[in-house]
Amino acid sequence: MQGLVVTAGFWNSHVHFLPPTLLHAEQKTAAQLGSQLETMFTRWGFTTVFDIASVLENTTLIRRRIDNGEVIGPRILTTGEPFWGKGGTPIYVKGFLEANHIDIPEVRSPAQGAERVRQQIREGADGIKIFAGSVEADGILIMPADLAKAVVDEAHRAGKPVFAHPSNQQGIELAIQSGVDILAHTTPDGGPWTPALVERLKAAHVALIPTLTLWHVESRKLSSADFEKGMNDVALPQLRAFSEAGGQILFGTDIGYIEQFDTSEEFLWMSRAGMTFQQILASLTTNPAQRFGLASHSGRVSQGMDADLVVLGADPALDVSAFSKVRYTIRAGKIIYSAN
Ligand SMILES: [Zn+2]
Repeated sequence: MQGLVVTAGFWNSHVHFLPPTLLHAEQKTAAQLGSQLETMFTRWGFTTVFDIASVLENTTLIRRRIDNGEVIGPRILTTGEPFWGKGGTPIYVKGFLEANHIDIPEVRSPAQGAERVRQQIREGADGIKIFAGSVEADGILIMPADLAKAVVDEAHRAGKPVFAHPSNQQGIELAIQSGVDILAHTTPDGGPWTPALVERLKAAHVALIPTLTLWHVESRKLSSADFEKGMNDVALPQLRAFSEAGGQILFGTDIGYIEQFDTSEEFLWMSRAGMTFQQILASLTTNPAQRFGLASHSGRVSQGMDADLVVLGADPALDVSAFSKVRYTIRAGKIIYSAN
């Protein structure tokens, strides 16, 4: 076997265990779940995924079935159900939630928010996700500041990271002020990120998940030229500014909300935003391992580490699209995906 390249196993820090093929996991066979997990994750080299909105009970059941060896799949970290305030259920998930009989209640008060954080962490959540800005029919609804602060503080008391869906500049402001750790998206609708804003994000140690493929999938869905322009003229420069300033970037694609599992487009956009091969590799490996507290055993190829590896069929140092040309995915020393 010549010309293959080995790296540490990849992390995808923005996924969702929401496709119907993953819901009602108690009714699914190991083969059914394993096949879906391969299609979405392991086939693309992901040995660890962070699910940032799903049904906690279902996601932790899948995790248990993987951990006990019955189902083949990646390491799963999860936030479970996301937090949104009164009237803040995003318009684009209402239909999906209803169709699948999923109830994610709106949080009515800071006390209720803090209580739900404690409950979800007790039930296995590894982090918390808030909708700092929710997309509604009449615009972006910003979460009340006291609610955001109460939720973030409670999560931090338990040592858990908080992700925010920002939507726009106000959502980013709320995220910074409430102490959020990770922005789950760039904000193509939110205007340019000034150097001052980027510096504040950095000073607050906020990490960024670009999700550039998502904006293209959405613009194709809406066939909106404006959206496409927002993507190219706004989101790409946001990532470029954040990256050039040395902000921490975590690879993430919103797989499970979008059905485009192929990661090659994201690598292309990241490189068009000026990210080097090394920076993209870090976003897949060392950055998330560090951010989520697993750097002592994950993210690098070294003695004593987890033996989570990806074997690529081409060299991403020459062409970043090679990050998606996965030949083998190895978790804890075992091949969990093989292209052959
Ligand atoms: Zn998402």
